[in-house]
Amino acid sequence: MGMPAAPDRSRLRVLVVEDDATIGRHLETGLLGHGYTPTWSRTGTGALAEAARTPYDAVLLDLGLPDTDGLDVARTLRARFPGLLIVILTARTDDIDIIAGLDAGADDYLVKPFSLTVLLARLRAHLRRHNGTSPAPEPVRLGDLVIDTTGRRCTLKDIEVVLRPKEFDLLALLARHPGEALSRETLMAQVWDENWFGSTKTLDVTMASLRRSLTQAAGALARPCRLPRITTLRGHGYRLER
Ligand code: CA
Repeated sequence: MGMPAAPDRSRLRVLVVEDDATIGRHLETGLLGHGYTPTWSRTGTGALAEAARTPYDAVLLDLGLPDTDGLDVARTLRARFPGLLIVILTARTDDIDIIAGLDAGADDYLVKPFSLTVLLARLRAHLRRHNGTSPAPEPVRLGDLVIDTTGRRCTLKDIEVVLRPKEFDLLALLARHPGEALSRETLMAQVWDENWFGSTKTLDVTMASLRRSLTQAAGALARPCRLPRITTLRGHGYRLER
């Protein structure tokens, strides 16, 4: 037995969308050095063209781009590639920008300046979940809502409910434990990363948009439906009611 082989990430393509030359080069070099295949695009338009040409596993997206708003790029990418991992890189520290970014379809965000080590750890955690192979569990049925984790599909009275990746993961986790109180720590660890670095505000933002997505889907149906209720447990976490 020799040394453990370095993880092979050579087939994992990462699109870096960043107009700042220093940050762009830093990211490109760092990703290359850690076995990823990066492509660096300096504009939003260029990034969308590149994403249409080549399948990517992840996009690191600066919000302040010279030609177009990064939020629009995030929205377009999410609409075209539902399974794509999108991590927003932002110098904007206002909560509203982070919320807007997650609402635009991003899975996660990093506020500049961030360390490459943290970025790579987040990327590893996300991609492991995105590409993880586990035995196929049965779809979970809750009232008129069906959550199929194998197909990553959520339906309400057989109509598909479009959820962002983290909304889906959060719902799927709660649905696997109906009637159980799940702590914020458990949810953060399971849905995001066991080594979570950021604030748990991400959880509340994602929960709010999950609830909104479900309510909207229910409202769009012609007939009334039975939607499971998610209760907020102050100071603890959340519980999906049976
Ligand atoms: Ca910028």
